[in-house]
Amino acid sequence: MTVRVVVGLDGAVHDPGAPLLAADDLAAVRGDGVFETLLVRDGVVREERAHLDRMARSAAALGLPEPDRDAWRRCIATVREQWARTAGVGGGAGAGAAPELVVRLLLSRGREGGSTPTGWATGSPVTPAVADQREAGVSVLRLERGLPSDLASRAPWLLLGAKTLSYAVNMAALRHAVALGADDVIFTSTDGAVLEGPTSTVVVARGRELVTPPVETGILPGTTQQALFRAAGQAGFTCTVGRVEAAELTDAAAVWLLSSVRLLARVHTLDGVVLPRAEPAAALTAELASLLA
Ligand code: PLP
Repeated sequence: MTVRVVVGLDGAVHDPGAPLLAADDLAAVRGDGVFETLLVRDGVVREERAHLDRMARSAAALGLPEPDRDAWRRCIATVREQWARTAGVGGGAGAGAAPELVVRLLLSRGREGGSTPTGWATGSPVTPAVADQREAGVSVLRLERGLPSDLASRAPWLLLGAKTLSYAVNMAALRHAVALGADDVIFTSTDGAVLEGPTSTVVVARGRELVTPPVETGILPGTTQQALFRAAGQAGFTCTVGRVEAAELTDAAAVWLLSSVRLLARVHTLDGVVLPRAEPAAALTAELASLLA
């Protein structure tokens, strides 16, 4: 993802190619901060409130001051304005040329030794790989997360369920999957439950019932999953939050990875084996994608 717009939480517009942080900023030194990734589609910021709510919960989990929502909303608006202004420049990446924009919000604890938190936002285009995965689906490996599914409430210091800047493990899991010829990962717990992807929520179909694992398992509450369940519930699907067994994925009516930018990607292959019922699963995917749109 190439960053084309950078805006400070104070509203200052920065050169996207220039250094932004002090060398001792705790985002860089410790991964000590939180972030959110939002999709702007056809000029609409999707799930803005849900993202800001989650950012506030993540910040609370890290003991950071409560984010100033109005400042973040203004910051998002400035990213969009800058994006629109640069339309047609440098290969036509702006709103006039592309209907989608990825906005990332980043909040660091600030500089080592004490300072106010550092906040900034970036604007980037949606990559072709993302568009591909929405269409074609993904091949996924189940990988052990190494934690039991009931650990989160006993171990708040692990920050399970907070969207922290410490994503190195998640990125390593993705690289591991790619090295083995897959696109993505579903993490499983030591007691055999489905958790989440490194950057996505898992949803499974049991007939016309959609099921997603509970946040009590230490997963991130997904804004896309919540939006899907709202829309699908109104469209007559039964939407359930409950334990999903890692073993049931091979035989589910359909399995998806959901996230703000990719939206909905069907899992077509699991641990190297093509999942059965590809046709009905693809039809269900198209139905849910249109509900989500
Ligand atoms: N789980 C993790 C670990 C994530 O990083 C993400 C998003 O990046 C999600 C789930 C999906 O969340 P959302 O749908 O709000 O993007």
